[in-house]
Amino acid sequence: MIQQLYHHPDIYVIQVDLPDNPLQYLNSYVVKGATRNLVIDTGFNRPECRKALCEGLRELGVALSCTDLFITHLHADHSGLVQLFNQAGCSIYMSSADYQYLVDSEDGSTWQYAEENFMKEGMPAADIHLQLTNHARAYSPDPHFPCHTVTDGEVLHLADLDFRVIAVPGHTKGLCCLYLPQQKIFFTSDHILFDITPNIQLWYHMPDALEQYLHSLDKVRDLPVTLALPGHRHGASSIVGRIDTIKEHHRNRLAEVMSIAEQRPDSTAYDIARHMTWSMRGKEWKDFPPTQKWFAMGETLAHIEYLVQHGRLLRRTDKEVRTYSLLQP
Ligand SMILES: [Zn+2]
Repeated sequence: MIQQLYHHPDIYVIQVDLPDNPLQYLNSYVVKGATRNLVIDTGFNRPECRKALCEGLRELGVALSCTDLFITHLHADHSGLVQLFNQAGCSIYMSSADYQYLVDSEDGSTWQYAEENFMKEGMPAADIHLQLTNHARAYSPDPHFPCHTVTDGEVLHLADLDFRVIAVPGHTKGLCCLYLPQQKIFFTSDHILFDITPNIQLWYHMPDALEQYLHSLDKVRDLPVTLALPGHRHGASSIVGRIDTIKEHHRNRLAEVMSIAEQRPDSTAYDIARHMTWSMRGKEWKDFPPTQKWFAMGETLAHIEYLVQHGRLLRRTDKEVRTYSLLQP
């Protein structure tokens, strides 16, 4: 499905369905210029996404031979189909941090590292094995492509427009948004989502992702925006209210982790995650799909790490397993 979102410049969205995924679909944005076009994000590396994206591009009359690709971040639902563009000779833009992570992930070592760490955080081996079908893993891109790396504040002339790159570490280390100052259009990717809360995970190559994420929300809060275009679901005409709501969500999550740690001293992260409230349509933890348990663990750990760094939780390591207790201020 395609939809025109803005006239002069002409901005469209191709809704790329993500079958059997709670995100439902990815917004692949297409900016049509007089001489060249720009595509922002692609969908998973799977046939259903490829078909949706190609059909959308065909319907818009966009030829890949005069198109460039900007990948906002490494996640497979955003970067999966990069080879479609690489093989057509398009220029591909992405942050060096996220590009490097894609390259490092090719041999599975980043996943293995995460698995070993989740075991130390109390996740049972059975739960870890069950999430091997994780979409992020199964539909990830082939990372062999020449990448034009982008940096914060850089101006990219794409689709006959000047886009400002805004680096917003948090959701991933190298997540970059694009901004059109003249039109006040902000492509927020997964930094700000309006219908769902962006997932903040623990990253082993990025200290305190939540702290960095909250800082990145403040970084863009005063940006003049009249059209915000996110990576998933619906956009909005402003970002300030949404940023404040997301910050409040994380404050509540931090309070919840502290309250669980107070009631259950020496809990593992897995135990804390099990006792958190998750909106899984009334399901109990034991009935959560394995991938959701994996994401819940990552999100819980991001909040735990923040509290450890801010002196509110004490981390102990005993026989390789880490436990947490509340520290009174
Ligand atoms: Zn993402």
